[in-house]
Amino acid sequence: MIVDYHMHLRNPEGDIDFSVEAVERFVEAAAERNIDEIGFTEHIYYFEQTRQLWDEPFMLERCSHDIDRYVGAVVEAKERGLPVKLGVEVDYFVGRERETAQALAPYPWDYLLGSVHFVDGFPVDQEPGLVEKLGPHEAARRYFVWLRSAARSGLFDSLAHPDLVKHHGPRAHAESLHWLHEETADAIEAAGVCIEVSAAGLHKPVGELYPDPPLLEACHARGVPITLASDAHEPQNVGRDIARAVEHARSAGYETVTVFDQRRRHQEPLG
Ligand SMILES: [Zn+2]
Ligand SMILES: [Zn+2]
Repeated sequence: MIVDYHMHLRNPEGDIDFSVEAVERFVEAAAERNIDEIGFTEHIYYFEQTRQLWDEPFMLERCSHDIDRYVGAVVEAKERGLPVKLGVEVDYFVGRERETAQALAPYPWDYLLGSVHFVDGFPVDQEPGLVEKLGPHEAARRYFVWLRSAARSGLFDSLAHPDLVKHHGPRAHAESLHWLHEETADAIEAAGVCIEVSAAGLHKPVGELYPDPPLLEACHARGVPITLASDAHEPQNVGRDIARAVEHARSAGYETVTVFDQRRRHQEPLG
């Protein structure tokens, strides 16, 4: 089975479109690429119902859409029998766990992706400021502290693009990364969450999949399940390079992929 569990509901022009017709366009694109099931994971900060969670201007400028419209479009598509799941991509912020859980509670999610896009006030993927200020080792160390906290928060089912800190480069030395990967895999295993294998990095400055093979191998050694992701922001990018993500997972030893329904998970053969 091939799934793509990370995408953002947009029209072909790239504008937010929370309609069943927009869902159908993604489903058609998935079928053309032989993807069996797709999951929508809109950024949580686009919803006006989450305004109280944010301090960052980046989020406060964007939370103007209605979460009920988004949830309604995906649920209606699901009820029509389309192979779609309802998720959301949730920014993790230390100290906001309770408010985040409350904001998410009213909706029938199939799964929740946890993302660390901001570390100590720096946007990790929008600009290279974190690495420039702290150097690659300290930037990676702090990023993985945040990611481990996201795992332990108990809020999430899978951790998205789990080594996003490498986005701009340069990377930390292999030896320090080794220990960060081991500690992070330990925390992910203990928390019982999945890790995402994402092809999105292939189209970013780093030009590689997330996560690095040693982190993925460390997760596999501990029995941590995976989800698969394109992180498409346009229907034409659904399932883009998902075969590369499958190959990446297989190289780390994976033979199954996680499928979610109403926050319960099971494993399906990969591919
Ligand atoms: Zn993300
Ligand atoms: Zn995303």
